Amino acid sequence: MFLTKKGTAPSFTGMVCAGVFVGAAFFTGNDAFAQRDRKDNPYTKKEIGTIAPPASLSQGFWLKGDLHVHTVHSTDSRDSVTNTMKKTLGYARSVGMGFIAITDHDNHVRGDIAHNTWADPDFKSDSLILLYGAEWTTTRGHGNVFAAKPYNHQKLYDVRDQRDVLIGSVKKELGVHLSANHPIGKDHFGFSYDMVNSIEVWNSAVWPKNVEAIMIWDDMLSSGRKLTGRGGSDTHRGFSDNPAEDTPENKRVRYNYIGTPTTWVFVKERTGQAVVDALTNGRVSVSSNPYGPRVEFSADLDNDGKMDLMMGDNTKSTGKPVKFRVQLAGNTVPGGKYKVNVFKNSSNLWKSLDLTDGNGLFAEFTDMPSDENRTYYRVTIEGPVTPYPQVSESMKLSGNMVGLSNPIFFNFDPNF
Ligand SMILES: [Zn+2]
Ligand SMILES: [Zn+2]
Repeated sequence: MFLTKKGTAPSFTGMVCAGVFVGAAFFTGNDAFAQRDRKDNPYTKKEIGTIAPPASLSQGFWLKGDLHVHTVHSTDSRDSVTNTMKKTLGYARSVGMGFIAITDHDNHVRGDIAHNTWADPDFKSDSLILLYGAEWTTTRGHGNVFAAKPYNHQKLYDVRDQRDVLIGSVKKELGVHLSANHPIGKDHFGFSYDMVNSIEVWNSAVWPKNVEAIMIWDDMLSSGRKLTGRGGSDTHRGFSDNPAEDTPENKRVRYNYIGTPTTWVFVKERTGQAVVDALTNGRVSVSSNPYGPRVEFSADLDNDGKMDLMMGDNTKSTGKPVKFRVQLAGNTVPGGKYKVNVFKNSSNLWKSLDLTDGNGLFAEFTDMPSDENRTYYRVTIEGPVTPYPQVSESMKLSGNMVGLSNPIFFNFDPNF
């Protein structure tokens, strides 16, 4: 049952029930130990593979964007005549986005995204990185595809009802990033999470409905799957030119639109491939809207005051204490009180700290990741949400959720 909360740290040796183990040892002497050491026993402790050193923390920059946006090429968006590609991209630029993924439903065009969304004469931009992708819309739920270049989406659409093993091989052959969408609810992602690189842990401005999505994410992380958490507004509507002519559908953009939430990626260069790579590597955080502050989360391994890891990074634990730093960068609400919630190896709150003012809003804590088992830490920030005037009702739906980080990992096996 995936909703069960787990209080124990995950282990490389697998989930061996202590009670059963002791019983077996009592009745069979050393047999239980012998079985544990057998070479074909999948529970035998394995050494983790070599972990590559983390990429530079300074050579790069942050870009913001929205990874789940529909236009008129999705038939359930057509009641809003204003939701054209031109307006969608123009609006994204106007709020400072650096990238966007137009993810129209592929089933509305029988998989032929290449001759619809991508063939739209307005699907182009000089200043905005446009990812190639679609919302893979299947009987077993929805996933978003992200790629830097056009790929054969039709092929992925055609295998949507096949076994996961086959779908996974097609995905691998296409070389795309697949992401599980809105993991809870009617169209939840109903495939194996082993096929995906990321998971939509924050869908739309309505924050409370994401709480269970976060629990699924923690289950995947706890079990050794290094999956990136990302956001997506899933907006289907556009602004009308004349607000007096707004239909009830158009009015929904005041509650949820491009940027609710906003996903930030740390890129080495301004290219689509750099955005996809950052998404895959987890150098990603999510903020409630494009004007809100960005969450920074980093770790100092040797206590020299210089940060060695950022979110998404993975290293071998040395068994020594690690200093973690959480910071809010950008537009905070003046005088606002912000709190950081730290999660360690599960969805259960591990620690809560106030952010204090001093060279920006920040908090620090120290902990010793296990030198034997996997450990991950991630944070969420609560406080006043920075106003987003164009989508003025969205702040009410976001509650006090300001942003979230991806985890910092210790002892995660790169060959998992
Ligand atoms: Zn969907
Ligand atoms: Zn969607």
